Amino acid sequence: MSTSRPENPAHARITRVAPGIHFVEGPASNWVVLTDGDSVTLVDTGYPADLAAVEHSLETCAPGARLTTVLITHGHSDHIGTLPELAKKYAPRVLAAAEEIPNIRREELHQIGIGDILPRLAKPRYARWTLHAIRAGGLAPIEVREVEPVVPGIALTLSGHTVIPRLTPGHTPGHLIFALPEANALITGDALITAHPTVSTRGPQALGDIWHWDAPAARRVFAELAEETCDRLIILPGHGPSHFPA
Ligand SMILES: [Zn+2]
Repeated sequence: MSTSRPENPAHARITRVAPGIHFVEGPASNWVVLTDGDSVTLVDTGYPADLAAVEHSLETCAPGARLTTVLITHGHSDHIGTLPELAKKYAPRVLAAAEEIPNIRREELHQIGIGDILPRLAKPRYARWTLHAIRAGGLAPIEVREVEPVVPGIALTLSGHTVIPRLTPGHTPGHLIFALPEANALITGDALITAHPTVSTRGPQALGDIWHWDAPAARRVFAELAEETCDRLIILPGHGPSHFPA
């Protein structure tokens, strides 16, 4: 593992997890870059304002390679924010769970709104998060039409890497996590995170109930994942730093 903080105006931190597998900690949410040198697969895409950081990370991790595929954990604006621009510029295949596609297409919206946040705005951590989310384009309309469904449990080979999607509904109806068996790693999206601006706790944890579409289901998913990953798997979360087994 090596970590670098390249000259990057958006301060994304890139960690090489295994050959061709890079974890990128963006300003407020994370993404993963998979590459075999010729092609790149991106897992999640940050907020709309993260486009320069996303493109910088692609160029740093895979100079000259073509963005062929974007995999989506779920359709929240901090995970699909740059997708409309990436789709326009690079025309990658976009893959997500069938259950999540209406959320990504904005035919339905399963996302926290201002009404949910308002009662908490007196807390400085929530106020800071809200300000960042708004500045980063969190309220901007994001809509992506071309999305293909993946079949959970069926391994994909993307940019030379085996990726196994797994359906983990709770945070959203079609939330996916992705196993990377060759790296002994799990991309956990928002089903399991390691830090969030609204809390002071660090390390593997669940997001609070207000962030979830179905909080009891999200708590069940988190309990399963916590048990499964505990000191065995590298965790690459949607928020917070990567977590390596002791
Ligand atoms: Zn998120």
